[in-house]
Amino acid sequence: MSLFLPALERIWTSVRSTWTPPPNLTISQWGDKNYVLPEEHGGGKWKTKPFQIGIADAMCDPEEERVTVMKSMRVGYTKIVDLAIGYYMEADPCSMLVVQPTIDDAEGFSKDEIAPMLRDVPCLQGKVQRDDDTLLKKVYPGGSLTLVGANSPTGFRRLTVRIVIFDEMSAYPANTGKDGDPVRQGEGRTFSAFNRKIIAGSTPTIAGVCRIEKEFIRSDQRYFHVPCPHCGHKHILQWSNFRWPEGQPELAHFVCPSCKKDIEEGSKKEMVAAGEFRSIKPFTCCGHEQEPEAWDKKGRPICKHCGEVKISGHAGFHIWAAYSDLPNAKWSKLAKYWEEVKDDPDEKVVYVNTIRGETYKETETEVDWKPLYDRREPYGDDHDGKVPEAVRIILATVDTQDNRLEMTTIGIGEGEEVWLLNRKVFMGQPDNPETLAQLTRALDRTYTHACGFSMGITACAIDVQGHYYDTMLAYCAQHSDRCVAIRGGNDYAAPAIKPPSRSNVYRIPLYTLGVNNIKNRIAKRLRFKYPGRFFIHWPKSNEFEVDYFEQLTAETVVTEYKNGIPYRVFKNPTKARNEAWDLLVYAYALLWILNPDLSEVVTAEWEDDEDEWEDEDDVVQSDWMNG
Ligand SMILES: [Zn+2]
Ligand SMILES: [Zn+2]
Ligand SMILES: [Zn+2]
Repeated sequence: MSLFLPALERIWTSVRSTWTPPPNLTISQWGDKNYVLPEEHGGGKWKTKPFQIGIADAMCDPEEERVTVMKSMRVGYTKIVDLAIGYYMEADPCSMLVVQPTIDDAEGFSKDEIAPMLRDVPCLQGKVQRDDDTLLKKVYPGGSLTLVGANSPTGFRRLTVRIVIFDEMSAYPANTGKDGDPVRQGEGRTFSAFNRKIIAGSTPTIAGVCRIEKEFIRSDQRYFHVPCPHCGHKHILQWSNFRWPEGQPELAHFVCPSCKKDIEEGSKKEMVAAGEFRSIKPFTCCGHEQEPEAWDKKGRPICKHCGEVKISGHAGFHIWAAYSDLPNAKWSKLAKYWEEVKDDPDEKVVYVNTIRGETYKETETEVDWKPLYDRREPYGDDHDGKVPEAVRIILATVDTQDNRLEMTTIGIGEGEEVWLLNRKVFMGQPDNPETLAQLTRALDRTYTHACGFSMGITACAIDVQGHYYDTMLAYCAQHSDRCVAIRGGNDYAAPAIKPPSRSNVYRIPLYTLGVNNIKNRIAKRLRFKYPGRFFIHWPKSNEFEVDYFEQLTAETVVTEYKNGIPYRVFKNPTKARNEAWDLLVYAYALLWILNPDLSEVVTAEWEDDEDEWEDEDDVVQSDWMNG
């Protein structure tokens, strides 16, 4: 037995060296203790800046699985990433994957950031075993660091890591569908790690398509709040409160939103030192949706009912150059730079992205999905289970895909004001009887109106185009009391609704829609901001999440000419999923096909026979097809 002991001890020692309890230091503390700036970056001892501390420490906070940083340049984000990498090499060793936009970027990052750190930071010297010291792979006791380019998906294979760092994520190529999305692939490499961390940071790009913006919106959205030197109230340094007289950027200053007094550059250092991150995203606790009003030290909101900290597990940070103490981030410099670029359409975008750390919003071409998502209202199945009071009839639309049916139900009120109600997916091939049975059950559903009576779905438009044309046309024929067969037309100049054709085996009406015309009409309505005529409502429901709104606004608009007439033509160049958009288009098409007079007929009936509506068994069902 004793002969084996030395061998066992060797194993124990090696196991212990790879598994050590998490350290007591946070990343910023580790950095302040160990990190030195490489000679080529100016040299000297590192000191984490006040607005960097919260970001760095979230990257090792066991309560955060995801950390998202939407940032400008000049805030030292790359150094924070360096600190995190050094920390996870030395203080809490584990395997890491760092994704850069391209292989070249990955090699550059390795040469410019990793190599000097391994050379100059004393506790990291000699950590990496020389044999493995290639540019894109570093092996050290307890783990390894792999660097890959998002443009080369093969680099992700056969890796399992605890930490994945997506650097400059918004510069990654779009999902081509062929090799899979680089972000999904990178995340997939962490599945087996219970204490995984998914860290994403980037300067943003164009609103609505920017990767880091999407991540940030999902996060708890922390902004750095600094106290006003005059009144003490803490505010975000917002671009909109940044002022200077035209042509005199050297006089740039902030105006306090509370006391309206000017705040000069000279106060910045003290303000930032006393600043703190605070989440601004509404949250739900104790059954109440709340705007954050109190925060813990990390900036997470505290419920005003139970006093508990709301931990979402996804820390999000926004930070921009105005907080930085770097000489080229002086407020006068930022103002001067803006004066130089503000009339140049391209340079202006660069400024908004890289100096303000914000997405750039195209004014005309497309609809931004974020405000639509933000204005979702509490009604429907996830709220009180009732259909809003102003709804008169319920319509449904079905999109036919090869492996599923997607359905949306929508309540229609006067003035074509609409309330989205449900969004359902029935998996299975459309010619499978079970798939169609699911659809029939959903169409048979009874809804409860806010006034107490029951409602059914009045009519349903079914897209019959595609591989299952015969199946879906047959379904429409069997359910001709409420199902209307439709398909999208390619002619972008065609009117929204044309008389149907009946030249099919069932002799049922089949409508070919002027899809582009309908899209133009709805796109205008997506921009309406106030409830009433033509307004569109969505419920706060997990059926209408970020992905739904992304689909709704996935298409872009180009101008094309036909017979000398310009048309705004909707295109989907990236072939992004857009079923949500199609289903909304079909809903309006169905509404215009039926053309019910909801203000006159239904309201009159409503008022006259109000007592009858009390009867639970009453179902609003128009006789539009029997008549
Ligand atoms: Zn104030
Ligand atoms: Zn003030
Ligand atoms: Zn609570």
